Formats: sequence, C-alpha cells, structure tokens
Amino acid sequence: MTKPTTPTTPTTPTTGEAALLELQGVSRTFAVRDGFLRRVRSRVSAVSDVSLTLRAGETLGVVGESGSGKSTLGRVALRLLEPTAGVVRYDGRDVSHAGRAERRTLRRDAQMVFQNPYSSFNPLLPVGRSVEEPLEVHTELGPGERRTRLGELTDLVGLSAEHLERYPGELSGGQLQRLGIARALAARPRFVVLDEPVSSLDVSTQAQVINVLRDVQRELGVGYLLIAHNPALVRHASNRIAVMYMGEIVEVGEARTVYDDPRHPYTRALLSAVPVADPDLIGRRPRIVLSGGPPDPTHPPSGCRFHPRCPEALEVCARVSPPVTTTADGRRVSCHLLTLGPATEQARVSDGAVPPLVDRSRAASGPRGA
Ligand code: SF4
Repeated sequence: MTKPTTPTTPTTPTTGEAALLELQGVSRTFAVRDGFLRRVRSRVSAVSDVSLTLRAGETLGVVGESGSGKSTLGRVALRLLEPTAGVVRYDGRDVSHAGRAERRTLRRDAQMVFQNPYSSFNPLLPVGRSVEEPLEVHTELGPGERRTRLGELTDLVGLSAEHLERYPGELSGGQLQRLGIARALAARPRFVVLDEPVSSLDVSTQAQVINVLRDVQRELGVGYLLIAHNPALVRHASNRIAVMYMGEIVEVGEARTVYDDPRHPYTRALLSAVPVADPDLIGRRPRIVLSGGPPDPTHPPSGCRFHPRCPEALEVCARVSPPVTTTADGRRVSCHLLTLGPATEQARVSDGAVPPLVDRSRAASGPRGA
C-alpha cells in the first residue's frame, strides 16, 4: 500500500467509459410544515432537474453557496434520499426507487465521508470498531481477515494500526478524517460522496487529506462526488466541476476550463471571491460582489433563478428559464447570454432601461439539467 504523495493534476478518465453514476432530470422537494396539525405550508425545491454523470476513477466537484442543494444532491446520489422526480442509475441500474435489499447492496458499493469527523464517530468506542463495522455488515471476512484489512486501510490513509485503538477525542481532526475515509473505503466501494470532507480542518491538514483521497483513487479506481463551497479546493481536486445555484446546475465542464474561463455569471461571481496569487489573473478577474442573498427557496424567482442578483441579467431572464447550451469546449451552461448574447436587441436590466420583473409563477420551459 502506498503512502500519500505529492499531488498532481487529476487526469480525466477515458470519455468512452460507461457512467458509474447517472442522474437524469433528478429533483428533490421537501414539505415545509407548521401548526398543530403539521399541515404542509409550502414546498422547497432543494434539487431541481439535475442531470450529471460520474465515471469510475473520476472526481466530479460540486460547488455552490450554502443552501444551494449540494448536500441534498449527494444524498440523492447515494439513495439516502429518494428523488421526487427523475432517474438515478448506478452501473446502468435504475435505483431511483430501490427497495431495502437493493439499497443495502448499494450501501456496500457507495459510501459517504462526512464533513465533521468528530460527529461521525461514536465517542464511546475505539475508532477501530467504527472502521471495522462496514466489514462486518458488507463482507464475509472473518476476524483475522478483517484485522488484516484494517491494517491495509490505515496504511492506505497514512496512519498506523495503533491509531485504531484510540477514542475519537484522542485524535486530531485530520487523523479522524483520515479514519473516516478508511471507514468509507473499508468494503471497497466504487463510488464515494465526499461532503465537505476538509472544511473543518486547518489548511495544511486539508492538503494532506486531499492527497490521501487522490492516492486512494489512483489505487482503487473509486469515483468521487466532491461537495464543497471552496472553488479553489474543488479545482485542485476534481476532473470536472458542476456549479449549483438554488438547486440547479448552472455550469458543468472540465475543472480547468470552468475555473480559468467561467461562462455563467454566477460562476464568475463565485470564482471572483477566490484569492489568486498570479498578478496577471488578478487584473483579469475583478471581484464581483452580488447584491443580496439567495432568494426564498419556497418561492424561487421566475425564469432564471439567478436573475434578481445577476449583474448581466437581460429582460427575458425574469420570464424564461435559460436553455442548456453546450459550448465548443464541451461544457454545458444554462444562461441566456450564450444563446441570445449581449449583441442582441435584449436590454440589460442593469442598464436601467428595463425594470426587473418579479413574476412569482415560474415560466414553463423545456428540460433544464446541465
Ligand atoms: Fe444572468 Fe440571465 Fe444568464 Fe440568468 S440567464 S445568469 S439572469 S444573464
């Protein structure tokens, strides 16, 4: 087993490969209840019409503000949550409405690493017991074989068997998160959702954990859905990036092209907040400060959901959902600027010529997912 090594840029797996995970037009809504009778007051659309694929050995980074639906998307992908609409395929199998037995099989192949390593381990048990649990549940290994596997796993994440004897409170956040990764990988899954896996760690430990994840991926060919709010981290660790805003994917493409030349106004604003060391890039990437916060998710704006905050909004944006456009470099972007373009007769709302429309009824449009 290998120890963590110096990071290199992730390479994209062969495009002809079949998708390990496929989300097709996936939506997930939640009921908002109140009152003594817990009546449904409204519904929140946490994930809306999302289409994405993930291949074996690939890392797909999902980035967006808090509340954009990233974690819900991860849970739907793992089938911890059932989609309200759309199809979730795993290895070509439709698991959207999988029963208990099928979900149990899926648990072996698809795992999750949680944001807070301290809350994901039982504080009353030595961590080795928690790491061993998936081996007991999902494999036929006997006690001796399980001990051997635990040794391999700790080696894989750069720790030793001695760490398994300790309690969570006796380990640092970085060590515990490495053991969280070991536990997620114990039953040799093919797909792991990493939900903000390093956001609770200090910067130097973040780099170590990301390197461990990459080494493990190289060795085992596991596919990662990496959920994070830090675009720089996602760029560093991912083959492709999907940008999420209010439950929708607004831009998805190769990590390098999306990061270096964002096409969607929201992606541009998100990336403009990332500090850059290159003085040339500083000049080319002015800080874009969006006005206000994300709108009320129980009443999403009509047309493009980003239009009330978009500095480049056109008059049509408040009325019509933008279609998905595939660009020459293969990324998919949902924005009217790519189809109507700034050269059209469309007036920009920010020019002051056209007041923004506040039509609460969402305009009907074709399928959106990017
Ligand atoms: Fe901005 Fe319009 Fe594009 Fe939405 S569709 S991001 S409002 S320009």
